[in-house]
Amino acid sequence: AKRQGKSSYAHFTPEMHEQSHERLQMESRLRRALELEEFELHFQPILETATGQLRTVEALLRWNNPVMGMTLPDRFIPLAEETGLIIPIGEWVFEEACRAANRWKLLTGRDIDISVNVSPRQFRDPRFTGSVKAALSRNDLAPERLELEITERLLLDNSIETADILRQLDREGVRLAVDDFGTGYSALSYLKGYPFDTLKIDKSFIHDVTQEQEAGALVRAIINMAHSLGLTITAEGVDDALQAEFLKKEGCDLAQGYFYSVPLPDRDFTEWLKIHYL
Ligand code: C2E
Ligand code: CA
Ligand code: CA
Ligand code: CA
Repeated sequence: AKRQGKSSYAHFTPEMHEQSHERLQMESRLRRALELEEFELHFQPILETATGQLRTVEALLRWNNPVMGMTLPDRFIPLAEETGLIIPIGEWVFEEACRAANRWKLLTGRDIDISVNVSPRQFRDPRFTGSVKAALSRNDLAPERLELEITERLLLDNSIETADILRQLDREGVRLAVDDFGTGYSALSYLKGYPFDTLKIDKSFIHDVTQEQEAGALVRAIINMAHSLGLTITAEGVDDALQAEFLKKEGCDLAQGYFYSVPLPDRDFTEWLKIHYL
């Protein structure tokens, strides 16, 4: 295409132009979203399979823009990562999550844990650990109340920095979870070197767990491996009773999914808490 000189512009189709225009528009909207207070957190409970008790609550980001409506994170987190906007957005998420945990404590009189997703760019930012600590202390929240969910993909690089940051966070007392476990194609050796507390089995493994024998066997093996390593195991994407029953029977510690509750906006989650815990 290089030899074509100026005719190479022909490859820039109207459709692509449309796409990049849309992207630019989205980027400029995203830049203003924080000041316009367009973000909100939805909350999904993570329960003990054996008792049905609430263990922690995952904070899931939503972007509510007047033009675009409610946008799910998969549609804007990649752009936020590329532009670095994920750093101020992520700080907002931590602050909001800590504040929510405090409100729930006032409401129920119990300590309720909160789980927050961390993307690679955020994690590698030199100010990250400091900003997590700051959000905790501003909100007077003990570090053990907070769990950071880090995607397995981030561990692929196997770098010394990654290990250092994880150890630093572990020393601070926050809990660490591997998110999307089983999708990162990483060597499992990281599991013995890094200070994780929890493995979250990706929902793609849970989907067929009661349909296919192999899927069931795989999840059973992951549960057993996690337990041999002293890790808590969570299943995500549990969306029916049969899956829930299977996971309980196989000793999977925690579960999350539409079967128990969809992610709820703050007001609805507060109602959920009242119904289950007051
Ligand atoms: P994730 O961390 O794997 O989050 C679980 C996703 O599964 C959520 O999608 C949740 O709504 C969805 N889910 C929950 N239960 C079920 C179920 O039973 N069946 C199915 N099919 N799906 C279920 P969501 O909220 O669209 O979030 C997508 C991803 O965006 C998250 O995946 C996470 O990686 C990322 N994300 C969300 N919030 C944040 C955030 O505050 N910061 C960062 N960096 N990433 C975030
Ligand atoms: Ca997650
Ligand atoms: Ca720890
Ligand atoms: Ca996942």
